[in-house]
Amino acid sequence: MAGGSLHVVLLGPPGSGKGTQAERLAAKLSVPAISTGEMLRAAVAQGSALGARVEGVMASGQLVSDELMAEVVQDRLAKDDCKGGFLLDGYPRTAAQTQTLDDILDDLGERLDHVIYLSVPEEELVRRALLRQRDDDTEEVIQERLRVYRNETEPLVAHYEQAGLLRRVDGDRSMDEVTAAMLEAIR
Ligand code: AMP
Repeated sequence: MAGGSLHVVLLGPPGSGKGTQAERLAAKLSVPAISTGEMLRAAVAQGSALGARVEGVMASGQLVSDELMAEVVQDRLAKDDCKGGFLLDGYPRTAAQTQTLDDILDDLGERLDHVIYLSVPEEELVRRALLRQRDDDTEEVIQERLRVYRNETEPLVAHYEQAGLLRRVDGDRSMDEVTAAMLEAIR
């Protein structure tokens, strides 16, 4: 931890409550919650060039390319509000992205402090995903997101465990209990 700043990654499957918990935790820690999914959705809503490039990929449940995500994240983490640290929600999602994040942090003279892994049983994930289904989400797209998560992102749990950064939190509890457990995990 450099100069009291805190760099945290939030890892977990779609439907684990990551987005909500990222906001709650960031408020408690006084660092920005940076959600790559939110950033991309905002770009699509604005009809920006970035939005046009990612819209189709997002709608299919697939991942945006590592190269494009590297640009997006590098720009965002260079902003002033990230100087005291940040909480990343939705990045990294692939092995290549973990490397990119390390490189970005290196350039900033910082390093990752914690990776919080929110674990939730599979059947609960499907139930939650169907509940919060967005207009254009079919069950197929939901299943595709879970498949992509299992193949591409779940291996990062072992990667960060080996790096000694992984903090496991049981996400199958009330919102307040999960937030409290996350705070405890990084104390
Ligand atoms: P999320 O809200 O985090 O589930 O993200 C919504 C969608 O944005 C994902 O299904 C991907 O298509 C895209 N996306 C968000 N973050 C990333 C990332 N780190 N790498 C690749 N694609 C991403």
